[in-house]
Amino acid sequence: MLHWTAPIRVAFRLRLHAENGDQVHAASDLRRRLILFDRALLADRREFRRIVVHELAHFAWQRLGNPARRAWEAVLVDELERRARGELGWSAELRKLKLSPGAQAARTRRWREYVCESFCDSAAWLLTGARPHPEATLARRHRSRRVAWFVDLLRRSELQI
Ligand SMILES: [Zn+2]
Repeated sequence: MLHWTAPIRVAFRLRLHAENGDQVHAASDLRRRLILFDRALLADRREFRRIVVHELAHFAWQRLGNPARRAWEAVLVDELERRARGELGWSAELRKLKLSPGAQAARTRRWREYVCESFCDSAAWLLTGARPHPEATLARRHRSRRVAWFVDLLRRSELQI
């Protein structure tokens, strides 16, 4: 299911912050193949596992290729047309809430970030068992569509990370 193209280094930090100063659970440097995690995550194994998968999904997204990326984007466009609210993780939800009405048509940077975070949050939710989670707020019918999309993707190819 996963194909490792090269090792990824992992390190833990106390009170990890993003470049903008916000406190974050994790941060990936795709070019340096490095993932930093906040040490506090180690106290919650289930949450740690979800965030590990989310960060690995960033590496997979980078190598996914345009046809699959566009196909994922089409799933999200369809959801928005059906006025789907909620997401499968706070990272995607935060960006979804900030989307302006024309963001999708113009394929703004914020839209593309949302598409990426939505892929990563969905992968993390799905690959850690698709269990109820406070951040999984997307309606069941939309979740089912995403699950079907991932199952189809994984049936056809390995995820390259
Ligand atoms: Zn992310």
